[in-house]
Amino acid sequence: MAIAEALYVTPECSRYNEELKEKARKEGKAPEKALCRKCIEACPYTIGGSPVPRVHRDELTGRIRTCIHCPETEAKCLLACRSEGRGAMRVKRGIIYIPKENLNLCISCPNVPGPAGLPTKVCARACPYDAIVIYSLGKGRYIPAKCDLCMAHFEKEGRIGAKPLCVQACPVGAMRWRSPAELLWLNRAGVDIIPEPPPGSRLIEKRLRGWIHIYEVPGWPQYLYMYRIFSAKRLLQAYIKQQEVKSKFGGKEPQELATYLADIIDSKIALLIDRVISDIIDRKAQIVELKELTPEETGAYITSKEYKAIEEKMKAGIIDYISRAELLGMLKYRDRNVVIIPKFKRKERIISLGVQWKNMQLPDIKFPPVVMEILADIIESLVRGPKFLKRLLEDPNLEEIEINGVRIGGDKPIFVFDKDYGHLVTNIIPRSVIKMVELANKLSKFAGQELRPTTLQIDARLPGGERMNVAGPQITEEGPCITIRKKIHKDMSPVLFCSHWDSKEGVRKPGKAMMSPEAMAFMWFAYEAGNISIFGGATGTGKTSLMNACLMFVPPTYRIVTIQDTTALSIWHINWVPMLLGPGGETPEKRQKVMSERILNALRRRPDYAVYGELRGAEARSFFGETIYGGAAKKGACTTIHFDKIEDILKRVRFEPMNVPPVYILKVDMLVECVAMEHPEYRRIIRRVTRIGEPGKELLPGEKMDLYVTWEYNMESDDILPVKNVKSFLCEKIMGSMGITPSEFIERFKEKCYVMYYLIQKNVTTGREFFNNYMSRYYAPPEEEGKPSKQKQELMKEVMASITPQIKRRVDMVARLLATQLKKE
Ligand code: SF4
Ligand code: SF4
Ligand code: SF4
Ligand code: SF4
Repeated sequence: MAIAEALYVTPECSRYNEELKEKARKEGKAPEKALCRKCIEACPYTIGGSPVPRVHRDELTGRIRTCIHCPETEAKCLLACRSEGRGAMRVKRGIIYIPKENLNLCISCPNVPGPAGLPTKVCARACPYDAIVIYSLGKGRYIPAKCDLCMAHFEKEGRIGAKPLCVQACPVGAMRWRSPAELLWLNRAGVDIIPEPPPGSRLIEKRLRGWIHIYEVPGWPQYLYMYRIFSAKRLLQAYIKQQEVKSKFGGKEPQELATYLADIIDSKIALLIDRVISDIIDRKAQIVELKELTPEETGAYITSKEYKAIEEKMKAGIIDYISRAELLGMLKYRDRNVVIIPKFKRKERIISLGVQWKNMQLPDIKFPPVVMEILADIIESLVRGPKFLKRLLEDPNLEEIEINGVRIGGDKPIFVFDKDYGHLVTNIIPRSVIKMVELANKLSKFAGQELRPTTLQIDARLPGGERMNVAGPQITEEGPCITIRKKIHKDMSPVLFCSHWDSKEGVRKPGKAMMSPEAMAFMWFAYEAGNISIFGGATGTGKTSLMNACLMFVPPTYRIVTIQDTTALSIWHINWVPMLLGPGGETPEKRQKVMSERILNALRRRPDYAVYGELRGAEARSFFGETIYGGAAKKGACTTIHFDKIEDILKRVRFEPMNVPPVYILKVDMLVECVAMEHPEYRRIIRRVTRIGEPGKELLPGEKMDLYVTWEYNMESDDILPVKNVKSFLCEKIMGSMGITPSEFIERFKEKCYVMYYLIQKNVTTGREFFNNYMSRYYAPPEEEGKPSKQKQELMKEVMASITPQIKRRVDMVARLLATQLKKE
């Protein structure tokens, strides 16, 4: 399987030909004669003046066939020709072709029996795509005709990489191609990028300045996440169409002008990249360093006087292509053997490219910076390889990138996990195991690790804070599996977890979020008073983000110490000690040992709250034993654990690898169940806290645990409310620790609810604003014993002024439900 198809026919061809046949039938003509032959007729190849088209219609299927241009290492025709034939085939700029002067070798190449017993040649028989046409020259002499992407034709015109004639001729755009530059770009990354969405797809969202499109595809359960590849040609066509610049260019139609420009630019880029890369591959040039050019250095290419002088020398053949590469501002040769690929700063790249086009005597069209930026991107990625991974990492909506290996000869696309749409299939398909190993290694090196044939797995943190896991050759069948978990948005206030943005009205509204404002107010109460909580759920359910947000309710005077193996937690709090797992945790066993050591170390820092990013193994014993049971954290502790239902917590922790005595779990005050699900109405993935529960205070016979569900989610109303008449030990604990009566508890709960509603109205979405402007005022120390501080009084005045009767009714209703949990048994 070729990594990326250079020339291909889309199903649009069959549809169009069916239409033609139908029309012919209606007119009483022979349908077979009505079939389109435009691409076949356009093929410029001739032998002895007779056309020998290198694209043909398959007699059996009626489909148009031509060479898709497999890479040199995979092309069956080339391998067969070299091993069995006379070796007439050659490779130039990645294109396998048969030079006319070699046809004598083909004539003397042995004929071999083909389908239906007709003679054919070894290359034609070897091609799995039936792409080579065999022509008879009479007297038992045969020659193959293999597509060369019109290379010979364009070379005569001094152009390289222009749009093939068959592609130009197709009336319905069914014949498609990828320029050599685009192919090089794709093949260098070892991925194929499907350029068009399936027919009937509906574009529903554009992101990252058009680099990402999301489509709804008929018959697909999930949306298509499309990484767009831009060629200069497509980009310019779109731009010129939009700008209607024909008056500036001798009255030429915009489309014509676009094609003209695109051809020049594509062929120049193709030529340059092709030469540079083949030089690098052939080791004629060697990359010795990457460096950033100063503005002065890039400026060196700007003067047109200098350009003119060099152009004269070029024309006279005094300077070869190396100088042209320098002129393009992309490459610098120190001498003939050393090439420096400069790492341009964005602005400088734009300048140097812009000037380059101007000096190429192109029409005086000013391209806007965004066009220049994308073109600069294309050129840079041609030299360095595509940036598909970079783009995926850039998309703030993505939470996970999943490279599931490489299926040889099949499709195994990269998947992503989107905040709104859940799992999405992308149009990026890894095709090369070697390239994926290279990629895994490149990323693992950030963690000082390397993927070897014996590696089981690698856990690493990337420079951007992303968490990466690579499953190595020992435990995967189809190449390395790379999972990159993006870092959570740094600065998310609790408001984001109990409200949504109404884009129609342009305001933030309560509800349609992970929790109700009242449930969030309850969390606030628990975190203010001190509690031990565990947030559970599957991957991507938002448990870590929610825990992160809840920690912003911790009063500023309390000390929070967090331990995590990546920077997943990011709490806006003034007394926060963020500790990382650090080195030494490469394997699960080592990780558990190091984590346990870090937990003990953290406890020496006298935390009020001890927080663990995620418990996975034996470190749970230190968490439960030292932190919870031993009471080493003064006010409380919290962590996340993978489980589906809160009932599963006991099973999860009491057996290997955690092996925690069941009695320890009774010390936990709050179990929060987080779920990601598809909501029938919203047609998107939603994350919700479905239950908040509390373990009973004694073990039941058979070491079973009693569970009290105190808050429960209702899918119909999309709301979470307190469960009536359930005993809550946590409420009791809060009252005890704050020294308040049940009625004071309810009053304080209501106060917190109002503050949450107020902050929703104010759209306080960042942790920074939430903590600095509101929590600090709420928790300001009182000037007089027993009286709230002036700052808090002022805040509450603002809050109460914003509360509508509707909010009051709702808060009263929830408070009444909560009050039923305070009754003594
Ligand atoms: S790309 Fe050119 S050589 Fe190849 S089939 Fe099309 S017209 Fe013929
Ligand atoms: S002729 Fe067939 S095997 Fe050879 S490059 Fe083309 S598609 Fe691949
Ligand atoms: S006929 Fe095909 S296999 Fe034989 S020499 Fe020519 S290109 Fe090679
Ligand atoms: S020109 Fe286009 S529509 Fe016509 S046969 Fe060729 S690919 Fe099909």
